[in-house]
Amino acid sequence: MASYTTGKELRKSPKRLIAVGLVAVLALVSAFGVKSVMDGLTDIERETSSDTESELSIPTLSNSSTVEDKIIYTYDVRFHEDIQKGPLALVNRTHATKDLEEGLVSVFEHKNSHYHVKDQEVLLTEECIKALNAMLKAFYEATGREDLQVISGYRTKAYQQSLYDNAAQDDAEDAASRVAKAGHSEHETGQAVDFNIFRDGITLEFDGTEEYAWLAEHCTEYGFILRYPEHKVAVTEFSYEPWHFRYVGVPHAQYMQEENLVLDEYIPMLSAYTYSGTHLEINDKNGFLYEVFFVPKNEESNTTEIPIPAELEYTVSGNNIDGYIVTVATGKKQQASAQQIPADPKPESSAADESADLPTA
Ligand SMILES: [Zn+2]
Repeated sequence: MASYTTGKELRKSPKRLIAVGLVAVLALVSAFGVKSVMDGLTDIERETSSDTESELSIPTLSNSSTVEDKIIYTYDVRFHEDIQKGPLALVNRTHATKDLEEGLVSVFEHKNSHYHVKDQEVLLTEECIKALNAMLKAFYEATGREDLQVISGYRTKAYQQSLYDNAAQDDAEDAASRVAKAGHSEHETGQAVDFNIFRDGITLEFDGTEEYAWLAEHCTEYGFILRYPEHKVAVTEFSYEPWHFRYVGVPHAQYMQEENLVLDEYIPMLSAYTYSGTHLEINDKNGFLYEVFFVPKNEESNTTEIPIPAELEYTVSGNNIDGYIVTVATGKKQQASAQQIPADPKPESSAADESADLPTA
């Protein structure tokens, strides 16, 4: 909230390298500005200060200014090895990952009661399990089913290699399309799950049909994507896997679903959105606005400076190629629909906010 009240002052400042200490100065300037208005300045000045006065009003974005003008940025630092970490790390046939064992926890110990897990050895990142719990609770509420079983989470490189070798023994060519080589499986990130159906003591293959189609449809609301969809085999270079879901985070998952993109298309696309250039704006299904931009790795150093918002929630993820993706939760709601469809604008902002809170179909 405070960052928006200082927006006017910030626009006059250089966008880059705004030190945190400046926040205090801006706050003073802002307070003085409001006082000046109170003391009776002209109507024009009063109007330009309107958004500093009404803290609860939703900015209309009716002029050409964009939201990033109003966000105060500071810097954080990442080492190059961090490029392979995070929910937006692209792992595929081209881009390999290392074993990333840190930050993994047992699904068995953290799961809720609405699904099963194969054994106590299945590991995922904590963030991924949280999202999984939320998704499978919602799945239960929608379908009454609690028979999903997580059969695969994190895999070591050695284990992935053994899977590949086993498959290749039977049919080398087939193995190549079905099983990733060591270093090239998303399971090595700890952010991908495979499901089975475990019903009456019998294990069935998860084929994504009947009630289970709910997952492919709603997974993005919880930050997951169906990673290898049937219609994108030519892009992913993997067979259709209805059982394999990857955690990427809510705004990214929803954007990819809306734009019909797989991760192999989405991550390279994000490189066009830079900190000093245009940010990708994503509205989630509740209408909250996120800003996303790419920060290339600094080739002349072991570290890269990452612009991060001083006062807002954000995430930084490596893309596992050449840099980092910053996602800023602006905390703002936009009047337009979540899909950024220009048609059907909602003129009443309060009505739009209420409808945005309703469950989506
Ligand atoms: Zn899988």
